[in-house]
Order: sequence, then C-alpha cells, then structure tokens
Amino acid sequence: MLKITKAGEPDFLKKYKKKYRPGNWAGYDRENIRERLKAFIFECEQKYAEVSCCVYCEKAVGQDDSHIEHIRPKSVFKKYEQDYSNLSVSCGKDGGSDRTCGHYKANSYADDFIHPAEDDPASFMTYEIMTGKIVPLSDDGKIRKRAEYTINLLNLNHNKLVRFRKTLFVWLKNSVTDEEELSYYYKYGFPVLLEYYKKECHG
Ligand SMILES: [Zn+2]
Repeated sequence: MLKITKAGEPDFLKKYKKKYRPGNWAGYDRENIRERLKAFIFECEQKYAEVSCCVYCEKAVGQDDSHIEHIRPKSVFKKYEQDYSNLSVSCGKDGGSDRTCGHYKANSYADDFIHPAEDDPASFMTYEIMTGKIVPLSDDGKIRKRAEYTINLLNLNHNKLVRFRKTLFVWLKNSVTDEEELSYYYKYGFPVLLEYYKKECHG
C-alpha cells in the first residue's frame, strides 16, 4: 500500500462545488470532474518515477483503468462523501467491480483499516519475498489484527497479485545489481515493494 500525503483541495474542485453545489457524489458528473480529479491525485500524490499507481495494490494504472476511491466509504460516512481528504485513486474502472482493492472493499470499513494517509502502512505490513505475499510486520497483537483486516478487506493476497510480486522479486534477484537497473522496474508500479527490496536485499 502506498503511503500518501494529501495535497490541499485543488481550486478546480472548489470552483466546481461552488458552481453546482452537489448534494452527493453522483453530482460529480459534469465538466469531466472525476477524470480531472484522478489526474490531479495521480500527479500530486500517487506518481513514482512518472508512473501512476493504485493506492492499495501499488500496480501501475492509468486514467482508463482506475477510479476515484473514497477511503472511508461514501455510503457509510456521509460527511466524507465530498471531502477531498477522503479521495484517492484505486485500480478498476469507474463503476466496475474487481477482485481486489477499492471495488472489492466496497462499503466495508472499520477502525482497524490501515489508512494510507493517516497511518504509515509500512509500520503494519511487509512483503514475504519467497511467496510474494503481504504479511503483518510483526506478531504484535494490534499490528497483526490491523494488517490482517486490511489485507483481507482489499484482497491484497489475491493470486494474481501474489504471483506478480513473486515474479518481480525473482527478476530483481536475478538481474539487479545497481540502482539504475532497479529503476527499470518502476514501470510496473509497486514502488513501495521496490523500495523495500532495495533496503532489505540490496544494501
Ligand atoms: Zn489496486
């Protein structure tokens, strides 16, 4: 999971709110506002080495295969429905369904959820290089509980993701001897995983 630092609410969003006074998220359907928001969030908060990444699974995503994710679900937390600080970008098309990340999480959310802007995900979860799985950082009860809750809620150990992480670790192990070579892999996304590998296995 990315650790994000929320930028301030962009002026174009403030203007939009003032102009249309939307009562809920459905009102954010004019002036291409969702696409503009995605582009802004990617650029300011979720871009690494020029590659935009899903806030949860970290894979590289673009405008067309991503959606605005309400970190606290908009159907449950009404007061965060239009709050910029609650928005991020997750993989999966707008209005679609998916087996991981924001679409999979849907309307579930408990306090144990590791919040990408309010918590430091790396203090709770880490990678298992041999298996490609994301696992709790330690056996500490609270850390384990929150990590397991979050991993399950987002399905971060879905086969597809686990396989890709494992492959990535094998490629890194076999081919990377310096930082320049490591940077080649940023095109796939997974910036936190790459940083982890650099720290743990590469000096
Ligand atoms: Zn994702």
